[in-house]
Amino acid sequence: MFDNLSDRLGDIFDKLTRRGALSEKDVGEALREVRRALIEADVALEVVRSFTDKVRERAVGAEVVKSVTPGQMVIKIVHDVMIETLGAEGKPIDLNAPSPVPIMMVGLQGSGKTTTTSKIALRLTRREKRKVLMASLDTRRPAAQEQLKVLGEQYGIDTLPIVAGETPPQIAKRAMTAGRLSGYDVVILDTAGRTHIDEPLMMEMAEIRDVAQPHETLLVADALTGQDAVNLAKSFDERVGITGICLTRMDGDGRGGAALSMRAVTGKPIKLIGTGEKADALEEFHPSRIADRILG
Ligand code: GDP
Repeated sequence: MFDNLSDRLGDIFDKLTRRGALSEKDVGEALREVRRALIEADVALEVVRSFTDKVRERAVGAEVVKSVTPGQMVIKIVHDVMIETLGAEGKPIDLNAPSPVPIMMVGLQGSGKTTTTSKIALRLTRREKRKVLMASLDTRRPAAQEQLKVLGEQYGIDTLPIVAGETPPQIAKRAMTAGRLSGYDVVILDTAGRTHIDEPLMMEMAEIRDVAQPHETLLVADALTGQDAVNLAKSFDERVGITGICLTRMDGDGRGGAALSMRAVTGKPIKLIGTGEKADALEEFHPSRIADRILG
């Protein structure tokens, strides 16, 4: 479906026979292709700009070593800058805090928050042998709390009993108390989302944060978010403060440019990747895999 960036750059540099340092003109032509590949991969425009500036800085004047072609040299620089921007592989979830460790899940409606909440709970239960309690703080959608309960029953993970009439901060407080009293290692708070970012949503998230004091606040975002990824990540980070990003629907057709956009504007790590609807469709983040996918 997509032309491979290496092939495109190879074509450009095939015309170049001379060796030595890469000129401003060679690099400029190559960067047009890089820009195109990034835009096709749905990387936000402001990130495309800063990314190509960084590549230009490093590439212009770089000596092409004998063993590689100029095209390969530019590809390597693009790849290196991408891996640096995407960040290193890390521990997906940091549980290094007193029990129960609060984890707060935030994001827009439909991004995959509830699904990811139960995937993470299952992973922590099975792989790390932690006792996990999940709580839905979504009082707006009547079915939301029920949805988490059903997933909990399906996977054998406890959920906080539903009490009608409570506000999200009240539920958060009750979840943390239950977590403490019943000896849970981790409490995951699945918050409400909306179709778009608005002030009441951000205020609600900030209130929940103040009550729960989360050790991890994970932004769940659809990999197909595209150009909106920057605003989404910036808003949640500025208003609520995120510690990491979970990117869902990476099993889809998207090239995952949102990963680069969100990481570049917030500097926060991408911690986990959702690759399907099933409970085990959750993977650790590998920067080189995403880089290959973005570059096509
Ligand atoms: P929420 O509104 O943010 O809580 O979103 P949900 O967790 O209810 O997810 C919305 C839909 O996306 C559901 O049908 C999920 O099965 C689906 N979904 C969530 N994560 C993924 C994923 O990584 N891949 C795919 N293909 N579907 C997903």
